[in-house]
Amino acid sequence: ASPIKGRGSQVTQEGPGNKRCISVVQEVNRMKEERERRRARQAEKLLEKDALRRQDPGNPNWEVALMLRQYQATLNFSPLRCLDPHGAFVQPITVCVRKRPMSRRESNCKSMDIITVPTVDSLIVHELRFKVDLTKFLEHHKFRFDYTFDEECSNALVYDHTARPLIQTMFEGGNATCFAYGQTGSGKTHTMGGEFCGKVQDCGTGIYAMAARDVFEEVSRPKYRELGAKITCSYFEIYGSKVFDLLHPDKPMLRVLEDGRQQVVVVGLKEMPVTRVDDVLRLIELGNKERTSGQTAANAKSSRSHAVFQMALHFPDSWGPYGKCSFVDLAGNERGADTQSADRQTRLEGAEINKSLLALKECIRALSRQSSHLPFRGSKLTQVLRDSFVGGKKNKTCMIAMISPSTSCVEHTLNTLRYADRVKELVAKDDDLQ
Ligand code: ADP
Ligand code: MG
Repeated sequence: ASPIKGRGSQVTQEGPGNKRCISVVQEVNRMKEERERRRARQAEKLLEKDALRRQDPGNPNWEVALMLRQYQATLNFSPLRCLDPHGAFVQPITVCVRKRPMSRRESNCKSMDIITVPTVDSLIVHELRFKVDLTKFLEHHKFRFDYTFDEECSNALVYDHTARPLIQTMFEGGNATCFAYGQTGSGKTHTMGGEFCGKVQDCGTGIYAMAARDVFEEVSRPKYRELGAKITCSYFEIYGSKVFDLLHPDKPMLRVLEDGRQQVVVVGLKEMPVTRVDDVLRLIELGNKERTSGQTAANAKSSRSHAVFQMALHFPDSWGPYGKCSFVDLAGNERGADTQSADRQTRLEGAEINKSLLALKECIRALSRQSSHLPFRGSKLTQVLRDSFVGGKKNKTCMIAMISPSTSCVEHTLNTLRYADRVKELVAKDDDLQ
């Protein structure tokens, strides 16, 4: 008789069929043991998880926090804490990143800090991802820049490594330009204009003011006094493709023209003579007030405009300024995505912001390649800043990309870092980050 096939079959006969049945029984037993082992392992894991959860009570993200801690434990930390005694390295184009601290709101809503700044020039974004079986894992995006500032770095330390080395450029007949780039709320205005205490901004603690102090220290040297050197300040805003003077009580719209010598002129822009740091601070305060007047959080126009603060060095009887320092608080880069908005005006503004940030990136890249083709006519922003890009080796540019630390901003943070990375492509050194 042929052996009976199938599960749970009775075994009464000897022969090849009988052997097969025995092996089926063995297989069933093996599977049973395996299942029991798996269950025991799962129970063990659950106990372990429970113990770990109790280490981080009340944190809904305890699992991700644990993965992050375990990863960070493998890194060597030596973040930037002070200026090198030899000063910062001066180069034609510097690209840095600054991470701001978690805000109270972010901490209260249990958002997580997912940015690690292990060394003076590296940064890691830990992005939460899900496998197909929905288990969580962290993807570690590594970046390298000229300098990376973590949440403990002060405005002064950032200034020392970014704008300060550029000030001398103006006295050497060049143009120094410092950009603050990033998402709205990432710390551009805090860094450039000064720290906020509630809604009040202390404009003495920003890069504008620190630069003004250094400019006056230099210009008060006998050499420049004898030459009759003078400093002027201007402060304007580019909103859409329009330029508005922030130092004029009526905030008039100004025209931008190019003359026969391809010089770009902002017609009627106030260039206020200043003789000491306090004069500059007063002008910054005045401009800041103009910039934000009549705004609410909902219509925050300032996040859709680029603010340009300039100091220029003049000598008597010469045409135009000898050198210039420009500081640009750029529009929030996420506003470039407003091109999908239902509101036509918002869409147009978004498109203009997008265009200007792309043109800016291309101009800086062209400057670094010493390329003869400078696409500065690509936007109002780059057109107005033409002098920063032409003039070759005398010019120096610095970009500070600002990022928010929290989980909710990870997409914008990665966009910001990828943009900054394209402005100046530094190769990430893997051994630094492990
Ligand atoms: P942005 O100009 O990029 O929109 P802000 O400069 O207005 O951003 O910063 C948003 C908020 O974060 C402000 O309340 C500011 O005080 C705070 N902030 C930004 N950077 C820092 C920092 N480095 N340290 C402390 N608070 C910061
Ligand atoms: Mg701002």
